[in-house]
Amino acid sequence: MANKFISIKEAIEQGQGQVSIRGWVYRERGSNKLKFITLRDSTNVIQCVLDRGNFDSTWSEVDSIRMETSMELSGEIKKDERAPTGYELQVKEFKVVGKSENFPINKDQSVEFLADNRHLWLRSRRMTSMLKIRSTVFAAIDEFFKGEGFYEYHSPIFQAVQCEGGSELFSVNYFDKKDVFLAQTWQLYAEPAIFALEKIYTISPSFRAEKSKTSRHLTEYWHAEMEVAWANFEEIQNYGERLLKHIVKKVLDNNKPELELLERDWKKLLPTLEKPFIRMTYTEALKILKDKFEMDIEWGKDLRTIEEEKLVSLYDVPVICTYYPKKVKAFYMTEDQENPEVVQGCDFLAPEGNGEIIGGSHREHDLEKIKARLREQGEDPAQYEFYLDTRRYGSVPHGGFGLGVERVIKWVCGLDNIKDAIPFPRTMERYKP
Ligand code: ATP
Ligand code: MG
Repeated sequence: MANKFISIKEAIEQGQGQVSIRGWVYRERGSNKLKFITLRDSTNVIQCVLDRGNFDSTWSEVDSIRMETSMELSGEIKKDERAPTGYELQVKEFKVVGKSENFPINKDQSVEFLADNRHLWLRSRRMTSMLKIRSTVFAAIDEFFKGEGFYEYHSPIFQAVQCEGGSELFSVNYFDKKDVFLAQTWQLYAEPAIFALEKIYTISPSFRAEKSKTSRHLTEYWHAEMEVAWANFEEIQNYGERLLKHIVKKVLDNNKPELELLERDWKKLLPTLEKPFIRMTYTEALKILKDKFEMDIEWGKDLRTIEEEKLVSLYDVPVICTYYPKKVKAFYMTEDQENPEVVQGCDFLAPEGNGEIIGGSHREHDLEKIKARLREQGEDPAQYEFYLDTRRYGSVPHGGFGLGVERVIKWVCGLDNIKDAIPFPRTMERYKP
């Protein structure tokens, strides 16, 4: 191979002259005179033509090139309106790097088949596009928090406490101990650290034994969480709003081609960037559901998916729903001073039927209230001593939230199912490959 390799994207930008590229055969077809190969790399695809006149002695090798063969190709690139990406490579030299057996994935395979062959399906243009957007989202979260002066901080994955409800815990075989679980959230181990660092965040896997089949629950998902000292409830909501705007902005700046490949109408994301989010209390939400949709929900019941979907259908930006009834929310949320029946918890509901993408709250500072709430939930406060110490030694107002990274990717990419927002989805039924 003659010169240095460049990416397909760079070759197309160059648009003329000699280039050397390498990648995998995305499509191939041929006659006994010409072979057409669509080569793909991580950046794009390009049509390449091999003319038998130039490869007569090696034609049987050319003829045997199959889908997903890895190759190096050199030749002359030129504009060609008929080619899929507008350019064509007239190949002068080729080298097969890795042969490919009959690739099992071609057109119209079932969802199940693609899930069984996820390790191969990752190479598809759809998955590649999602993975690029996913990478942007992770970088945007890091960038946002670092830019706001937060420290990255890490909590344990093996935990001996539960935070978000026992029914969703995965217990672990931990040297015959009975009370070790995989983390559902970092929170109980994050709050102690604000006394050292004040503003902290993480992006880490969380594990929840979700038994229901929905399009927005995984058993293993990536959780971006933050905790901040001295903050009031409104400031926590503001952080969430700014974070989501930053993520959407970064994806629109970097990934329009990928959004288009996913057939995502990205213009629907613009209001999220340009307009303030809608803020309403749970009680106001019930009234809207009644007035607009004749949905009669008893005060005190949590909002279900169907109700969240109806609510967000009225807006083109996320809705921040606040002040939920105490009994539907976790034990650590601050009781409202004016109405002790509600707590300073907030859920961010994404538009286009996506539902909750962030759950957050201000944290209760009153030790006795926390203990009472733990007991009400059937917990033994003695198990939480290390956590309760956060309220004993110089407690300060604070709060935080957790963002489900795959939920955000599902919304931003316009995916039907959260399983397509992660390379190897884990659900109750699916843990292989
Ligand atoms: P839901 O009511 O949808 O089950 P939750 O109230 O259990 O959500 P939180 O405990 O507040 O969620 O977790 C914080 C965030 O983590 C959620 O806003 C959501 O974005 C994400 N999340 C929660 N459970 C899952 C899951 N099983 N799979 C993917 N993301 C999740
Ligand atoms: Mg849940």
